[in-house]
Amino acid sequence: HERDAIPNKSLKSSKYATPSRSVADHYNSKVDVGVERRRESTIIFLRSFNNWIKSVLIGKYVTRDGYALDMGCGKGGDLLKWNIANIKSLVGLDIAEVSIEDARKRWSEMKGRRFDAEFHVLDCFTSNISSIIPSSTKFDIASMQFCLHYSFETEEKARITLNNVTTNLRSGGIFIGTVPDANWIVKKLKSLPKEQLKFENSIYSIRFEQRDNFPLFGHKYWFYLKDAINDCPEYLVHFPTFQKLAQQYGLELIYKKRFHDLYNEFKEETHYRELLYSMRVIDKRGEDEMSDDEWEATGMYIGFAFRKK
Ligand code: SAM
Repeated sequence: HERDAIPNKSLKSSKYATPSRSVADHYNSKVDVGVERRRESTIIFLRSFNNWIKSVLIGKYVTRDGYALDMGCGKGGDLLKWNIANIKSLVGLDIAEVSIEDARKRWSEMKGRRFDAEFHVLDCFTSNISSIIPSSTKFDIASMQFCLHYSFETEEKARITLNNVTTNLRSGGIFIGTVPDANWIVKKLKSLPKEQLKFENSIYSIRFEQRDNFPLFGHKYWFYLKDAINDCPEYLVHFPTFQKLAQQYGLELIYKKRFHDLYNEFKEETHYRELLYSMRVIDKRGEDEMSDDEWEATGMYIGFAFRKK
């Protein structure tokens, strides 16, 4: 990860960017187990914690009555957060058809819904969003939660993704998201004996195919997360590279924190403290309910925000 300059390539046609089918197939094959089953999951506190982190990012950067774009929205896991944030309207996009159907259904059945929404199947890493929504629609906020790292399969995909973000944001608009922290992951990998390519705890495992080369794009590893992700290919996001690339698309970094630091920053703020209780991240005594292994797994992520110049 030592390369400094990223050539300022103009956006090429997407004919070389092949759609990310294996990721789509992975998410399509996941059945929506519903709230009750999710509550029984062994990673319930990790899920709640991640949801709380996303609530903080959305709450901190959303504009009341704003227009929101959720790229890689999945099954609509953030719909309640958007509702609480009082947005006016949401466009949700995802490559997985089944997830988009679930999100649409979840939105249409939502009680106390206060925002309009539309959902579309789209490969946001290879296709231009303007192919499905008018380019005159400018969003106040774009969100990519636990999703952007899949685009780091190639530089072209990362560029198409950032181009989609920036061309659809108004000037001054905000781009928020969450990604695995490549530094944390690579440090872990390098702490292993030379021939070892895998590290894990009872919640997750990360397996590399090699540890000789550290390319800035396409640095693949296989990720398993108990009850959630079953050995799915993911790609390291070298943050300085991401930041430099984003800058080329007029996006200026305004916030970046590892989840644990973000937690420490916001956990005492009254509103977010209450959310920690209601989302059951902490119990009545104010102690967090996560196992050590869940806590370790949450530590590998970063929350970020960019502002469009
Ligand atoms: N953002 C949701 C959340 O936080 O609950 C879902 C996160 S899930 C870990 C990653 C999502 O990214 C999946 O729904 C997957 O289908 C979506 N995704 C992966 N590649 C994509 C692509 N090329 N275009 C759009 N969505 C994609």
